[in-house]
Amino acid sequence: MTDLEFEELCIRCGGCCGSFDGNPCEHLRRDEKGLCYCAIYENRFGWHKTVSRRELECVPIIEKLTEEWIGEHVCAYKRKFEKN
Ligand code: SF4
Ligand code: SF4
Repeated sequence: MTDLEFEELCIRCGGCCGSFDGNPCEHLRRDEKGLCYCAIYENRFGWHKTVSRRELECVPIIEKLTEEWIGEHVCAYKRKFEKN
């Protein structure tokens, strides 16, 4: 699987950025179709704040798969890699 194919698995639900828990990362945005994107994508890794100012560390999704979050059942990576 190429890097591009890996990235294209994402359905842009934003769950890994807190879109389902009412306190998402302050950099999470939605486009006109309601799909999530990161406003600082190229510089996303590291410490940020949620909209209610809680600390949040942004890490590559492959590292985040060991964590749990609200709505994780929607995540394409969780679905693909935790089944195998
Ligand atoms: S910085 Fe990380 S956690 Fe915040 S919106 Fe961007 S990708 Fe999501
Ligand atoms: S939870 Fe998974 S599918 Fe949803 S935006 Fe994050 S990486 Fe993409």
